[in-house]
Amino acid sequence: MNINVIALFPEVIKSSLVGVTGKAFENEKAKLNLVDLKDFSTNSYGSVDDSPYGGGEGMVMCIEPLEKALRSICSTGKVVNLSPQGKIFNHKKAIELSLLENITFICGRYEGIDQRFIDSYVDEEISIGDFVLSGGEIAASVIIDSMLRNLPGVIGNQDSVNKDSHSHGKLKGYSFTKPATYNNQEVPEVLTSGDHEKIANWKLANSLWVTKQKRPDLFEQLQLSEKEMILLRDYESGKLS
Ligand code: SAM
Repeated sequence: MNINVIALFPEVIKSSLVGVTGKAFENEKAKLNLVDLKDFSTNSYGSVDDSPYGGGEGMVMCIEPLEKALRSICSTGKVVNLSPQGKIFNHKKAIELSLLENITFICGRYEGIDQRFIDSYVDEEISIGDFVLSGGEIAASVIIDSMLRNLPGVIGNQDSVNKDSHSHGKLKGYSFTKPATYNNQEVPEVLTSGDHEKIANWKLANSLWVTKQKRPDLFEQLQLSEKEMILLRDYESGKLS
């Protein structure tokens, strides 16, 4: 997949995609094309923003440099504007975007970008949450990271992606590692029992219970099987530990 990003501070994106997602580019699972908007300034000051029509605070990113930057990209694919006014990003959207061959992210700064650019070129506006960042670069990094995890071969063990929180509408639940005892805190006994069926049942029940505790909104939407209902009831009554 080809990922293009138009940004005033593209270095933010490069420095944040490290580890497994950084390797995705090294191993050519995806290509990253960072377009520096500063290279497309249309004035002698090298700026790409101007004061807003109608007055008001801050500056607005001009249409012309954005248009030129977009035209410098061979295959833009879907054009996504990062904006706190967009639809909230989630796991489903990450999978949907990861299936595209080409995608282009537009990262705003200041008060955002001229609406005429959005009207003419943007296919979708995405927000990473109901808060305001100073720029779209971090939002682009968040989305790209989460998209890349869903590309085959990016995470060594694909099974781990399928078991991640949100992949099936619930949270993953607790994780433990060595030592088995630390400051009198014990790892749940079942996890060290070696009984694979019991461990799988405990993990499923723990995942349901954690979802119920932390995200009752998600839990309400789950359609539990009879087995899951029994496992959760047994977990809550302490029978599974
Ligand atoms: N004045 C704008 C508003 O109130 O809608 C906010 C502009 S914000 C300071 C500058 C840029 O940061 C935006 O153009 C967008 O690219 C990015 N940004 C801010 N919050 C975001 C969010 N929650 N999700 C995605 N991008 C965001």
